[in-house]
Amino acid sequence: MVNSKLKTEGLPLRVVDEIKSISRVAGYLWTREWAERNAGNISVNFTDYFKGNKIENTVEVPCSLPREVGGMILFVTGTGCYLRSLINNIEQAACILKINGDATAYSIIWGGEQKGFKPTSELISHVKIHYENTQNGSGYRAVVHTHPPELIVLSHHPIFKDEEKTNHSLWKMCPEVRVFVPKGVSCTPYALSGSEELADFTIAGLRHRDVVIWEKHGALASGEDVEKAFDYLDVSNKGAKLLLMAWAANFEPVGLTQEELQGLEVFL
Ligand SMILES: [Zn+2]
Repeated sequence: MVNSKLKTEGLPLRVVDEIKSISRVAGYLWTREWAERNAGNISVNFTDYFKGNKIENTVEVPCSLPREVGGMILFVTGTGCYLRSLINNIEQAACILKINGDATAYSIIWGGEQKGFKPTSELISHVKIHYENTQNGSGYRAVVHTHPPELIVLSHHPIFKDEEKTNHSLWKMCPEVRVFVPKGVSCTPYALSGSEELADFTIAGLRHRDVVIWEKHGALASGEDVEKAFDYLDVSNKGAKLLLMAWAANFEPVGLTQEELQGLEVFL
């Protein structure tokens, strides 16, 4: 259940709705066992939603971000914060921050109430993805990173080194995967959490795929809103789960034939 005491004073209505949606999705991640301890992070680009709204000046925290993201207003979860805290205490474990004009500092304009709160250590990845989304006109405003077990297990399998084969293996498991993850998954090599290298792999992957699987770590997706980003992860993980179930039962699944897969293209 979503927090009924959510502090929403002064926030645009669309922002309030989106925050409630983030709480709900955080609940899905927790109950699915995709968000152990402080695993995962979520961000949403609220810049357009605050247009015309007066924003109170708050303390600026110095940071070093790409200059082109100056002026962006983002919802982001906190570093070390538990995603399950977003279900009932979202203003403690997440914040809305405004990046200053030359991207040398940010100020927290809502939330971040937990003692010692700092935005996610993956902030650089998130801002770069949001910038890319504003440039490519995708209309995607949400980014979700989480730890779906079946996708992680698949990233340990030798098949993961062959991205085309991995995608065909997922798509062939059931029609939904082909239809709702139409661009498939990107299989990125292992890189350290929070590194510029991981950010670059992720951005490159999202240019041609719906989901980026971080080898031996987790997965990330972007979407119009947080529910849509979750859907990409949920459906692709279903494909991985079905594949692993077939292998665990010691048979190679027949899978949808090439003709059957082509027949689904009317839905793409
Ligand atoms: Zn992670």
